Amino acid sequence: MSLSEKLIEHIRDNGPLTVAEYMGACLYDPEDGYYATRPNIGGASADFLTAPEASQMFGELIGLWCAHEWEALGKPAFNWIELGPGRGVLMEDAIRATKRIEGMHEAATVVLVETSAPLKDEQAERLRDAEWEARIEDVSPGPCLIVANEFFDCLPIRQFFLGEDGWHEKLVGLDEAQKLTFGLSAPLPAPDSEDELGTVREIAPGLESIIYDIERRLHDAPGRVLIIDYGYTKPEGADTLQALKRHKKVDPMETPGEADLTAHVDFARIAQLADAANLDVHGPITQGAFLRSLGIEFRAEALSRANPSHAERLKREVHRLTHADEMGALFKVICLSSPNLPPPAGF
Ligand code: SAH
Repeated sequence: MSLSEKLIEHIRDNGPLTVAEYMGACLYDPEDGYYATRPNIGGASADFLTAPEASQMFGELIGLWCAHEWEALGKPAFNWIELGPGRGVLMEDAIRATKRIEGMHEAATVVLVETSAPLKDEQAERLRDAEWEARIEDVSPGPCLIVANEFFDCLPIRQFFLGEDGWHEKLVGLDEAQKLTFGLSAPLPAPDSEDELGTVREIAPGLESIIYDIERRLHDAPGRVLIIDYGYTKPEGADTLQALKRHKKVDPMETPGEADLTAHVDFARIAQLADAANLDVHGPITQGAFLRSLGIEFRAEALSRANPSHAERLKREVHRLTHADEMGALFKVICLSSPNLPPPAGF
């Protein structure tokens, strides 16, 4: 039975799914979910290209940022945690870039938080000395530096739509031909809203619980988390759910489990949750501003001097990572820290 058939049967028996339940099934179903079976991140035939896959400079600069923040923590023994490491390229580049930082690697336990079995295998080829956990709450306590690139956009969202007769939850049900389709719940008992008709609001329950786990960790021991993702700093009121297959947008209902399903990350919500939990919040700022402030242009120049034949490619990579028409503006960076630490680099 395909995932599509399983979902149709489930909906027939139990009624429509929330968008979050649908997204969760498409991404994480143990037999047919995208991440369980066919995550396709690097290389020309990939479904999407992330920053560390686009350029080694990305992971290198994040590595040097981590070295700076490890010093700010007072150089303790620490968990160097990555959430959703994909093929492990970012951490590999970060480790290589910091091998001359005295004492850092001895102090670090690299912990990769990953649920996908095929990606774990790929990570293990690049990062032999790492440890793996399925959830951040399973990582042993203590000081930490946490990096999450394009991780929060996978966390399932619920969607609410403002129609003439009030707010409705968007649901996934069946049309007359018994095919998967979007629909709306009956009007919800929600308060009157100043929003325009047609506004869509999104909430990501999984994001909220992961931020909560991070908050507890950062209150128990000093540490920081650096979150990089595409998203918004104030809600746009639009539907941001998208399905990508081989770099092309496809219909999210078309082939459940075969495309990568994501939503834009609500950075305002992350900042609000962290602030309410008394963490220090820096950013969000754009990825372009962050990488320039960490010196990506100087890094590219140094690499070009060492290897002039790479100069053109490096220039294209800087453009891709930092320019507003590419990843530079849509992608944002936010840092959450334990209280009473000096400000982090780059903000
Ligand atoms: N950070 C990588 C990969 C991004 S893709 C990069 O920038 O290239 C998203 C990653 O998060 C994948 O490794 C995926 O398997 C993992 N992932 C998605 N949801 C997860 C969850 N709930 N818990 C742990 N890992 C998850």
